[in-house]
Amino acid sequence: MPEAAAPGAADGKWEPVIGLEVHVQLSTASKIFCGCSTAYGAPPNTQVCPICLGYPGALPVLNAGAVELAARAALALGCEIHPRSIFARKHYFYPDLPKGYQISQYDRPLATGGKLAIRLDDGSAKTIRITRVHLEEDAGKSTHAVEGTRVDFNRCGTPLIEIVSEPDLASPREAFLYLSALKRALEYLEVSDCNMEEGSLRCDANVSLRSRGAARLGTKTEVKNVNSFRYVEAALAFEIERQAGILERGEAVVHETLLWDSARGEARPMRSKELSHDYRYFPEPDLEPLALEPGRLSAIRDALPESPGARADRFVAQYGLPAYDAAVLTATRPLADWFEAAAAAFADAKEVSNWVMGEVLRLANERGEAVTLAPAPRPLAPAALAGLLALKAAGTISGSAAKEVLAAMVETGKDAAEIIRERGLEQVSDSAALSAEIDAVIAAHPDEVAAFRGGKQGLIGFFVGQVMKRTGGQANPQLVNQLLREKLAGQEG
Ligand SMILES: [Zn+2]
Repeated sequence: MPEAAAPGAADGKWEPVIGLEVHVQLSTASKIFCGCSTAYGAPPNTQVCPICLGYPGALPVLNAGAVELAARAALALGCEIHPRSIFARKHYFYPDLPKGYQISQYDRPLATGGKLAIRLDDGSAKTIRITRVHLEEDAGKSTHAVEGTRVDFNRCGTPLIEIVSEPDLASPREAFLYLSALKRALEYLEVSDCNMEEGSLRCDANVSLRSRGAARLGTKTEVKNVNSFRYVEAALAFEIERQAGILERGEAVVHETLLWDSARGEARPMRSKELSHDYRYFPEPDLEPLALEPGRLSAIRDALPESPGARADRFVAQYGLPAYDAAVLTATRPLADWFEAAAAAFADAKEVSNWVMGEVLRLANERGEAVTLAPAPRPLAPAALAGLLALKAAGTISGSAAKEVLAAMVETGKDAAEIIRERGLEQVSDSAALSAEIDAVIAAHPDEVAAFRGGKQGLIGFFVGQVMKRTGGQANPQLVNQLLREKLAGQEG
């Protein structure tokens, strides 16, 4: 059972209480308070200006696109969006924060009180409450090396939302499932690319232990800036064990911030909480309160993209797919988009579904690529699958040949027709050519012909087999079957 993720000293006696703060980069082209690009991977300090570098007198201007994406996420998470929210300065000193403060939202956030449903491993649903969603800017990036620390300010001013959950998660596994559900929801909303390698989604985890069943929460610690869901799970499991050990010894857990070291598999204290929490928040004097009119809000609400659940329901209704297929195909938005593009180009949606769930996903997983095969050097286009299925439906190739052709298409980037030609996979569907082979088989087996005509209908398989043998397996079996029956019946009269 998944809750066993906190075994050992915790051993049922201690109950973990986990809350997550997730920082999500909004997918705007420019930063939150200036026009600098947010594109990833540019040379250091090339996407900066006096505003995001915090020059004295430079005035921030709020990016309306960032507000829209933040509102979209908050609405989809069922939050109440406040008509007025306030930006605040959060002060701390760090070399990658040139202003000496981060513009965030504090006591008057954009939105509060949402929820997200997760599906547990036993199939039951659990609702995780969301405390708040607020807008803020990112800091820069420090790289520590032997010769010193380098600072890249390109990230400064990148728009983020912070999504804070209530401490409703009861195990590292639940934290993993919550993060996965949140990522899927945000990807569907096109709020963020959620690219974890590029830091578009980062997580701070708060965890405490209490005696099982107790109402009062224990002292929590915070594991900072974990950038993979597996690391969050591992860091929480580590921290739960550590705290359980402290409590078992009758000692007190210290309220502190820890950093997860994935290489060593341990969390280490980062700085004392007294230092890190004296942020001296005050309202940002250079920005007006963020006011969202009801008209603008309802426009954003009306334009909310289809949710994963609604899309699965539509796949069942529109394409006549089983609920199972619909659930698999809507696992990610790119996969659902890929399926729909293929289904638009080939009439039999169930056939498309079978191939996407089967061969396409198998090939993608085998190659360690995203399910859509889109980032591959030779991406497989949905229309290419549709074209292959059309050739199969027309009897040009057999089902097993189609699998071989699809694998070769992904491997070589060539189109189906070219591969079929090169490999000689085309089925013989020429009636005249097949007729000659069938006549030869009939002439060679007079006893079997007599037995068939005497009522041994099962012998049809024998004749089909003989024709397939003579044609090197390339005859279209359906056509052979049909011609054989005609000839065996016809010659009788
Ligand atoms: Zn700038």
